[in-house]
Amino acid sequence: MQPARVPSIVVHGGAGADPADADEFRAGVRGAVLAGWTVLGAGGSALDAVEAAVLALEDHPRFNAGRGSVLTSAGTVEMDASIMEGDRLSCGAVAAVSRIANPITLARRVMQETPHVLLAGEGALAFARAQGLPECDPQSLVTERQRARHQARLVPTAKGTVGAVALDRSGTIAAATSTGGTSGKLPGRVGDSALIGCGTYADSTLGGVSCTGDGEAIIRVVLAREALHYLKDADDPDYAARVAVDLLVEEGLGQGGLILLDWRGRIGWAHSTRLMPVALMSPTLGEPRVPF
Ligand code: ASP
Repeated sequence: MQPARVPSIVVHGGAGADPADADEFRAGVRGAVLAGWTVLGAGGSALDAVEAAVLALEDHPRFNAGRGSVLTSAGTVEMDASIMEGDRLSCGAVAAVSRIANPITLARRVMQETPHVLLAGEGALAFARAQGLPECDPQSLVTERQRARHQARLVPTAKGTVGAVALDRSGTIAAATSTGGTSGKLPGRVGDSALIGCGTYADSTLGGVSCTGDGEAIIRVVLAREALHYLKDADDPDYAARVAVDLLVEEGLGQGGLILLDWRGRIGWAHSTRLMPVALMSPTLGEPRVPF
C-alpha cells in the first residue's frame, strides 16, 4: 500500500484580471480554495475537491464561468468545462453549453456516466436533462456587468476563467477548468478549457494542470500536457510552469497562465499577464495563501 500523501489544492481565477479588482478576486479564490479544502481535509477525494472549488467560482458572479460568463457576439452565454482524474486518466468535458448553471458538474457526469470524453451544445444539454441536472434560464447566467460590457462593445477580453488542481491522501491528482470563453466570440467557438491536454490535464504519477488565457494559443501548443512534460524533465513545478508559459507566448503567440501541482503536492504557477488570482492550501500552510 502507498504511504498516505499530504493533501494540497491550488485554484486560479483567470489570467488577465484587472489589478484594480484584485480585492474582489482575492476573496473569491480564497473562498474557492476553502471549499475544496473542506473536502480534502475531511479525507475526501481530489475529484470532489476540484469540483467543489470550481463550483464556488462558477456561482461567483465576478468570474468568467457559470453565472458571470462573458457574452458571445450574439449576446448569449456559451460555456466550456473539463475535469480529469489522474489515476486512470479518466476525463470528461462539455463545450458551448448554455442553460446549465454548473458546467463542471455536467463535465464530471460525462466522465462518469458515458463512454465519451466531450459533449457539445444541444447534445450536452439533452444529456444534462437525462441526468436530471437542473436547467436554468440562460438569462440568469448574464450579469448586469457583462450585459453592459457587451452593449458598450468593449474590446474582447478573456478574464476570470477558473480552475483547480488537487492531490488527495491516497495520491490521486485531479484537475478542473471552467469558462465562459472569450467575450465577443463567434457562437459555436470552443476554447482550450473544453479540451483535455490543452486547458486541463491530470496524471497521478506526475501532476495536474489547469490553464487560462488565449484559448487558441493554448490549443496550438497543447499547453497542459506540455507543462507536465517539463515537470517530468525538471522535477520543479515553478520552473515547469514558467517554461510552459514561455512556450505559450513564444510558440503559441498568446498570453495566459497556468497552475500546476506535482505528485508530491508541490505547487507552481506562472502567467504572462499582469495578474492571475491564485489561492493555495495544504496542512503545512495552515491557512489559505492568496499570493497575488
Ligand atoms: N482560455 C479561455 C478560453 O479561451 C479563456 C480564459 O482563460 O480566460 O476560452
